[in-house]
Amino acid sequence: MARLVMKFGGTSVADIERIRIVAQHVKREVEAGHQVAVIVSAMAGTTNQLVEWTREASPLHDAREYDTVVSAGEQVTSGLLAIILQSMGVSARSWQGWQIPLRTDETHGSARIDDVEDSLLVARLDEGQVAVVAGFQGISDAGRITTFGRGGSDTTAVAIAAAIKADRCDIYTDVDGVYTSDPRIVSNATRLERVSYEEMLELASLGAKVLQTRSVEMAMKHDIPMMVRSSFDDPEALSAAFCGDNSVVGTLVCDEDEIVEKHVVSGITYSRDEAKITLLEVQDKPGVSAEIFGLLADANINVDMIVQNVSANGAHTDLTFTVPVSDFERANNVIKPLEESLSYRDLLGSTDVVKVSVIGVGMRSHAGVAAKMFKALADKNINIQAISTSEIKISVLIDSAYTELAVRTLHSVYELDKT
Ligand code: ADP
Ligand code: ASP
Ligand code: MG
Repeated sequence: MARLVMKFGGTSVADIERIRIVAQHVKREVEAGHQVAVIVSAMAGTTNQLVEWTREASPLHDAREYDTVVSAGEQVTSGLLAIILQSMGVSARSWQGWQIPLRTDETHGSARIDDVEDSLLVARLDEGQVAVVAGFQGISDAGRITTFGRGGSDTTAVAIAAAIKADRCDIYTDVDGVYTSDPRIVSNATRLERVSYEEMLELASLGAKVLQTRSVEMAMKHDIPMMVRSSFDDPEALSAAFCGDNSVVGTLVCDEDEIVEKHVVSGITYSRDEAKITLLEVQDKPGVSAEIFGLLADANINVDMIVQNVSANGAHTDLTFTVPVSDFERANNVIKPLEESLSYRDLLGSTDVVKVSVIGVGMRSHAGVAAKMFKALADKNINIQAISTSEIKISVLIDSAYTELAVRTLHSVYELDKT
């Protein structure tokens, strides 16, 4: 007997028929003798609609009330799945974040989980009851509902898995694993059998939204194996096999040591979530960067890529950086008042950019990965506007019109295409 967490995303619970199929997946594991905690997302499109309603109600709104509204979708799904499981003869009960309770800080809209009380849940699991947990939500010390940021049900799943000491955390979605690139853009992307926590962290944070970045961070910290698999596979045909069993179609996110075959490059991602800001002919003297980036930090704006040219005349230089596209206006408003003190010539900005990244742990020990990337893009006449690197990734900022071309080109240059 094992203790399992099974998480189902929005498309997997899109309507009552799909929820019935989810219930069959759950029943299969229960009949195999396992204890099961299920984490559900809102039905596909619901959270978008709820977010939109809060904006329509008032563009500037209280973040606590935003969380009250957007957490509602998961409550509906948890009740529906519990009803369907019960109708199939499976003992089940729904759980909202406050009922567990799953405690968080007070950062409404992107709260961090502080603690998960496991005793009530575990007692019910020990009685053989399936716990159907509403994802994406918790409760703050002030007793208010909080949410974890878009895609946050993945993080609920890992947090519950850690709390109840689950043997495995299965993330069921609309693809049967983590691919070498987004299958919606690269039709011949290859499924990865295994991917290390570290690579998955980079893949997720650089655009592969198949898992929320925080969920991978938490899985790595608590050493929870995550299996990404499809709820669209036939529930009857899937075996209730354990981690590492090759009969499970999916991707295992695990420790690097458990991966025998290491790739130089494991994946290509893209992210349209960034915007570019350039200060032309800003003064080249000590303290300028400190002033600009200090003010942006004070405004809680995350800066990602930064490029500063060598000053040709010793007096002025150009400075380019990227910020989240949602903070673009605010960042401009922070910089504009500096026009006099920094005496820059012009402030330019663009949201028509995309960050394309090449990721792989093998980069640590292989030279030439970056050169290959730059040459491939040059051959397609794609101009690179900014570059950033870490030990296991290289990212470039390019014109967003070339997103598909760049991603597909790099996918084939690094020989990731399905053969
Ligand atoms: P869910 O609603 O189940 O949480 P998501 O939409 O959040 O599902 O994540 C699944 C989607 O992630 C897939 O449909 C796929 O288009 C996208 N995706 C992006 N990059 C990748 C990748 N490298 N591998 C697999 N899926 C990816
Ligand atoms: N329903 C939330 C969202 O759409 C959380 C999730 O699905 O993971 O972002
Ligand atoms: Mg998701």
